[in-house]
Amino acid sequence: MGNRCIVMKFGGTSVGDARAIQRVASIVRDRLAQRPVVVVSAMARVTDQLLEMARAAGCGNRKSALTLARELRERHYNTAGELLGTALFTQFHGDLGGEFEQLEELLRGIAAVGELTPRTTDHVASFGEVLSSKLLSAALSAHQIDSALVDARTCVVTDDAFTRATPLFEDTNRKLRDTVLPLVERGCVPVMGGFIGATRSGITTTIGRGGSDFSASIVGAGLEAEKIEIWTDVDGMMTTDPNLCPDARRIKVISFAEAAELAYFGAKVLHPATVLPAIQKNIPVYILNSHNPACAGTRISARAPHSKNFFKAIAAKKRITIVDVAAPRMLLAHGFLRAIFEAFDRHRMAVDVVSTSEVSVSLTLDSNESIPALAADLARLADVKYEGRKAIVCLVGENLREIPGIAAHVFGELADIKIRMISQGASEINLTFVIDEDLVPAVVGRLHRVFFADPDPDTFA
Ligand code: ADP
Ligand code: ASP
Ligand code: MG
Repeated sequence: MGNRCIVMKFGGTSVGDARAIQRVASIVRDRLAQRPVVVVSAMARVTDQLLEMARAAGCGNRKSALTLARELRERHYNTAGELLGTALFTQFHGDLGGEFEQLEELLRGIAAVGELTPRTTDHVASFGEVLSSKLLSAALSAHQIDSALVDARTCVVTDDAFTRATPLFEDTNRKLRDTVLPLVERGCVPVMGGFIGATRSGITTTIGRGGSDFSASIVGAGLEAEKIEIWTDVDGMMTTDPNLCPDARRIKVISFAEAAELAYFGAKVLHPATVLPAIQKNIPVYILNSHNPACAGTRISARAPHSKNFFKAIAAKKRITIVDVAAPRMLLAHGFLRAIFEAFDRHRMAVDVVSTSEVSVSLTLDSNESIPALAADLARLADVKYEGRKAIVCLVGENLREIPGIAAHVFGELADIKIRMISQGASEINLTFVIDEDLVPAVVGRLHRVFFADPDPDTFA
């Protein structure tokens, strides 16, 4: 491959309104020499709204679904009007209008049947990224940037696990090279929606909420990009969620492994699957702030320099349920754990934290509506109790296993807190525990004050 390209992904808040989109256009312009490929999320809150209208239609509530669609139409028209000027807007109006007609027709169909399937859910959800990519591509053209709209469904190929589809990398990479690369080579800026893809037979899929980050790295890996930039609304990956703790500091450099662990345990700034394709092709990922483009952000790469602090960051994941499975009759007999995990597998539920005793196992799951069905299934094997409104708190840092007294230090700070589960050592880099959800701000705030009182200037800004 000749000169390499870069991938620039803009999240919903980076394209939330016309001003934000103008900023994006000027950020892209500053990078033209690096041959950008742009991946864009739906405008802020749009995916939530689309899912809400899909649900309303699924309940047969046609009128409220169409009212929501009309509001969405107005927001996109207004934004386009502000961005494009009269001549371009007139041209573009019909294109946008065509999408809304399709969306409304789909909603009417769902309401008529009164049933919402995962497949139609994905079709409705896909409009967010279809619309935002059209808008951004038109906005770049209005800024005299030669851009080309690419429908992500023509190059991101996935399986048919609707609402959380998995990319098929071989097909995807081939299509990316065939469709996107020639545009880059022509000096054009390809713009495509994140989050969406299609099966081999062309049926629309989505790759899971927050998945545009993952799309960016799928595209980056497929095109063997020089780097992948994730543009968002904060200065980078921070020592904890800045919305939770205003003292959060920016992390300048972090390893793929640490970033993946943080993303998995609640640092929403990055979708947890993002790092995988990047690791495979050893492509550095940057987290940058579209509202503050001069800031250097966070660099995520294979190795991060040693830091003087024990921890890089603290993440918290709410909406967790603890499931306690007790087997008084079997005393963890051979095959018992397997039978339990098979039940989780049948219900397609991923377990995050596990702890066992001689007679019982405790596990954590994302709280969702299928837990009662799982519990009923498990009840055939053992006594089952479950309790929601819990949270996982995860401290991430290098070589934690090697640091004597680290657990005592952490839990000493939380001497008055009821800790429900503890896990350390599954990886060298995380120390994880489970508490009541409403304690998260206090616990994270307290640990942050202690462990980031004196941040190493080589690692933290
Ligand atoms: P985008 O729309 O750009 O994808 P997201 O809302 O998905 O943005 O992610 C950015 C948000 O992630 C931030 O506004 C912040 O509240 C949240 N966040 C959670 N943990 C962290 C963290 N450790 N560092 C930075 N941001 C975090
Ligand atoms: N728009 C999608 C969502 O809200 C994907 C993303 O923003 O990353 O989940
Ligand atoms: Mg996101």
